[in-house]
Amino acid sequence: MKHTVDFLIIGQGIAGTILSYQLINKGYKVKVMDDHHQTSSTLVAAGLINPLVLKRLTKTWRAEEFIQFNKQFYSELEKETNATFVIDKTIIKLISSDNEREFWKKRSKVEGVNNFISEQLEDLKKYHFLHKNMFDGGLVKKTGWIDTKILLESYRMYLINKGLILTEKVDYCKLKTTDNEIIYQDIHATNLIFCDGFQSANNPYFDWIPLSSVKGELLVIQSEQLKDDYIFNKKIFILPIGDKKYKIGATYNWKDLSLLPTEGKREELLNNLEELINCDYTVLEHTVGIRPAVKDRRPLIGTHPKHKNIHLFNGMGSRGLFMAPKLGEEFVNYLLENKQMNSEVALNRYYKDYLN
Ligand SMILES: Cc1cc2nc3c(=O)[nH]c(=O)nc-3n(C[C@H](O)[C@H](O)[C@H](O)COP(=O)(O)OP(=O)(O)OC[C@H]3O[C@@H](n4cnc5c(N)ncnc54)[C@H](O)[C@@H]3O)c2cc1C
Repeated sequence: MKHTVDFLIIGQGIAGTILSYQLINKGYKVKVMDDHHQTSSTLVAAGLINPLVLKRLTKTWRAEEFIQFNKQFYSELEKETNATFVIDKTIIKLISSDNEREFWKKRSKVEGVNNFISEQLEDLKKYHFLHKNMFDGGLVKKTGWIDTKILLESYRMYLINKGLILTEKVDYCKLKTTDNEIIYQDIHATNLIFCDGFQSANNPYFDWIPLSSVKGELLVIQSEQLKDDYIFNKKIFILPIGDKKYKIGATYNWKDLSLLPTEGKREELLNNLEELINCDYTVLEHTVGIRPAVKDRRPLIGTHPKHKNIHLFNGMGSRGLFMAPKLGEEFVNYLLENKQMNSEVALNRYYKDYLN
């Protein structure tokens, strides 16, 4: 039977989740198709909500706007899905030299950065699991993390209950496109939006976009001696996820885009961990995801240069959980009200790369 929708969305990572939710809320008929997160970056992500580049102590792009929007957005999504996935937790940057301490103090006086860090440092002596040279900690405000497993699964259930999701891998070659509609099996859609993450590289409609995807590996460890007070950071993060478990991450690799965990990166993470802590732990899991990143480090959002009813919401890089809600709202305004996309994320900045 013919099934007509306004928007067919392919992919239910954070991009597809946010976009479908916002369009459904505006009263549009939406169908989401996802292969049950088989290649999802979101599922693997640490989910940190962090407004700073911790190495340089600089603010990330549009940090204040995203922080403000996320608070209200995620809390509404939690209510709608009857789930809890937002966890407020302060990030503490470990400081192990006088130079680092001076740098922190200097940066805490910089306008904008001072919204997120203050000069005063935390004495870390009481944390016996840390090496003694980690003597101070700088607190980063307005931080936390999203439990992406709970978010994705609870939103998936929300869609299942409304009959709005199909769990299957979309064969791009079977999409039939005309000027008026897109047809896939019995679905006839006025618009098609790809939220397929790094798989866009294999998508015949968008294989020309300059994705520069980045593999990331992450460990889950268990330790009786670590403490849950903060998300500790220095080169890596130690993120408490409950039940004495901690996510340790993450790595970056631009060359190997396989979804297989590697011994080399496991070793790299554990070496970095052991530079910070001196307690016992057991490694429970080793996971891998591919961040859909872009050459110029900005997302890619907009309409296909030739097919005016085919769109893309992608390129969230290493901060999808942080950026996607607000960018999703802006994209919905673009789709429904013809408002211009922010030029830094607009797909049309790469139209020149598309060959007819
Ligand atoms: C190790 C690691 C740590 C990270 N940590 C953080 C962090 O702390 N904070 C943060 O904000 N971000 C983090 N990220 C980045 C974040 O994961 C991404 O920015 C974000 O998840 C991208 O979301 P997406 O929806 O675009 O893609 P995805 O999550 O990859 O979603 C795409 C979905 O489409 C599905 N799909 C693809 N092709 C098809 C098809 N043909 N048919 C059906 N379904 C299909 C996939 O299975 C998947 O479910 C991290 C990433 C990694 C790998």
